[in-house]
Amino acid sequence: MDHPICVTCGAQFPASEEQPAHCPICEDDRQYIGLDGQRWTTLTALRQGHHNTFTELAPGITAIRTAPEFAIAQHAQLIQTPAGNVLWDCISLIDDATVSELRRRGGLAAIAISHPHFYTSMVEWSRAFGGVPIHLHASNRQWVMRPDDAIRYWDGETHEILPGVTLIRCGGHFPGSTVLHWAAGADGQGALFTGDTIMVVPDRRYVSFMYSFPNLIPLDEATVRSIVAAVEPYAFARIFGSWPGRIVQQDGRQAVRTSAERYIAHLRGDVTRP
Ligand SMILES: [Zn+2]
Repeated sequence: MDHPICVTCGAQFPASEEQPAHCPICEDDRQYIGLDGQRWTTLTALRQGHHNTFTELAPGITAIRTAPEFAIAQHAQLIQTPAGNVLWDCISLIDDATVSELRRRGGLAAIAISHPHFYTSMVEWSRAFGGVPIHLHASNRQWVMRPDDAIRYWDGETHEILPGVTLIRCGGHFPGSTVLHWAAGADGQGALFTGDTIMVVPDRRYVSFMYSFPNLIPLDEATVRSIVAAVEPYAFARIFGSWPGRIVQQDGRQAVRTSAERYIAHLRGDVTRP
C-alpha cells in the first residue's frame, strides 16, 4: 500500500504491503478511534476531492488548510521572514497546486511542528522543497510514525531555527509540545504560534491548556505555570492558534497570564459563580 494516512489524526505511516493494524497516536488517551473504527487513506486518494486554501492572516502570515475538512482540520501557517519561509505545523494534504503556490511565495527554508497530532505528511512537505529540515522536539520522538533523515530532533528549552524565529518547549499537552515565537511578527510587537499547546479559545481574549482536547482532560497547576513561565521571557502582542478565527489580536502575553490564573482558580475551586 502507498504510505497509509490515519483518517482520524492525519498521520502518514511508512509504505507497507498491508494496512497498519493500529495508529498509536489515536490509541493514546489524548486522541480517540473514530466511530467507524481505525480507517486509512492515502495521499493519492486525498488528492481526489480535497484541495488546500490559502488565507492571509496578517502580513507575512498565511494559513493553509484543507477543504473539505480532513482529520483534525487544523491549518498550517506559512511565516515569511527575510531569512526564509517557515512552515509552522503541517497538514496531511500536499498537492501540485499547493507546492506551486508556496514556490510563488518563496518556497520553504524549514518546517517546525508543535506536537504529534500535526506531524501528518511532514516528510512529503520536506521532500517537495528539497528536503528542508523538519524541527521536532526530541521528547516527542516516539510519536514519529514515518522517520526520515530530514527530521532534526532538538533538545532543551529553546531553539532558534532562523534569525528571530525561536521554538520554545512548553510541555503540557505532550512533553515536547512546542510554540514558535517570531520576534518581528505583529509589526515588530512579536507573534506567538501556539498549536494547541496554548489553545486560543472562542473568546479570543483567552487561551486554555489541556492534556487532551477531544477527551477534555485538564492539566495540573504546576504544568500550567511552567507553560506560562516558558513564554514569559518573550514579547508577543498576538497569538495565532491553529483553527480559523483563533487569534488573540492584542496583549497576548497578558492574555496567557490572565487565562492561566483563571484556569488555576477553577482547578482549585477558588471561584465565585454568579
Ligand atoms: Zn491516528
